[in-house]
Amino acid sequence: MDSKVVGILGGGQLGRMLVEAANRLNVKTVILESGKLAPAKQINAVSEHVDGSFTDPAAIRELAKRCDILTVEIEHVDTDTLKAVRKETGIQIHPSPETLEIIKDKYAQKQHLMKYNIPVAECLSVESTAAALAKVGEKFDYPYMLKSKTEAYDGRGNYVVEDKSCIMKALEVLHDRPLYAERWAPFTKELAVMVVRSVKGEIFSYPTVETIQQNNICHIVYAPARISDTKRAEAQIMAGNAIASFSGAGIFGVEMFLLPDGQLLVNEIAPRPHNSGHYTIDACVTSQFEAHIRAITGLPMPKNFTCLSTPNTHAIMLNVLGADKPNGELIMCRRALSIPNASVYLYGKTTRPGRKMGHINIVSESMVDCERRLAYIRGETEESPS
Ligand code: ATP
Ligand code: MG
Ligand code: MG
Repeated sequence: MDSKVVGILGGGQLGRMLVEAANRLNVKTVILESGKLAPAKQINAVSEHVDGSFTDPAAIRELAKRCDILTVEIEHVDTDTLKAVRKETGIQIHPSPETLEIIKDKYAQKQHLMKYNIPVAECLSVESTAAALAKVGEKFDYPYMLKSKTEAYDGRGNYVVEDKSCIMKALEVLHDRPLYAERWAPFTKELAVMVVRSVKGEIFSYPTVETIQQNNICHIVYAPARISDTKRAEAQIMAGNAIASFSGAGIFGVEMFLLPDGQLLVNEIAPRPHNSGHYTIDACVTSQFEAHIRAITGLPMPKNFTCLSTPNTHAIMLNVLGADKPNGELIMCRRALSIPNASVYLYGKTTRPGRKMGHINIVSESMVDCERRLAYIRGETEESPS
């Protein structure tokens, strides 16, 4: 479809699903990741991948040599090297290294969003001292959220400061990380919207979904979100506006909080495919992965290509997390395979408790039916859905 070769920094499950989407369009991909068995490399044996880290300048340069376009499946990459490589070779990089640089520092990201009048929880940069944290408590009251500015994912980098007595423990947990504090957001629901931007700058928002996190890890996604149409539309517009403030093409995940008074706040942005968008593979006209490949290679992106497949489409995405007993999570996958309307995706990773091993998409004409199927898959009922 497109003769340009796409290099992906990172070879985890997001890269794996990008490779799948690219394969269908016959777009060639090359992966930069340590180890020969990374999830994205397993399903793409035709390319000579790069064995190395997406934070290693030499490895990034080696990847750039083999590709026409670079993209990422993770934001924690060496953006200085990406900028230098772009200057030296003219290679296209999506989203832009400038966007990645802002987003990978969660405090810089918040400041950027505030500059563009996107509502976010009030936040402050803070020194790693007990006195500084106590001062934040006086300003924000308790609880408040202490976050690492960088290298954060799955809540690793967050600490809830319940009251003054937790300050020493918070410093112990987040020691030697650059910190900022956020005012507590007493949300009633967490929402998310995938947004894709074309090379021409057009913005397309996917439907607003509801995400349920367990231990800070995305666990279940309801698509569309179980809120009013007006609020769903408001969230889509806010997400689109947030992404319009950044440069570069591609897919972005926008996480949001819905507050008790109906106000929406942006929690954070991911400059790549996102766990809350996995439902799009089975429930939307185009998956988030294909949308990304189309966006960065300049392929057509027609109106409505991010919509649910039909006006009645409802979906639930369940993450398959590693069980306490090795491979115990596969029981759930077998149950999903035994019923209609459920699709299983496994990432080819070694099982470990709590690790994201795969996901299951359930698609049906009503949320009640999706929930019935979910209950069966989770072993909450033995009544097998037809
Ligand atoms: P991800 O894997 O999504 O990148 P992360 O490590 O970057 O996660 P955040 O998204 O900042 O972490 O926070 C994880 C979760 O913690 C949120 O989904 C939400 O449930 C909760 N949370 C974050 N910030 C706040 C806040 N200011 N007030 C209340 N809860 C919050
Ligand atoms: Mg994050
Ligand atoms: Mg998050």
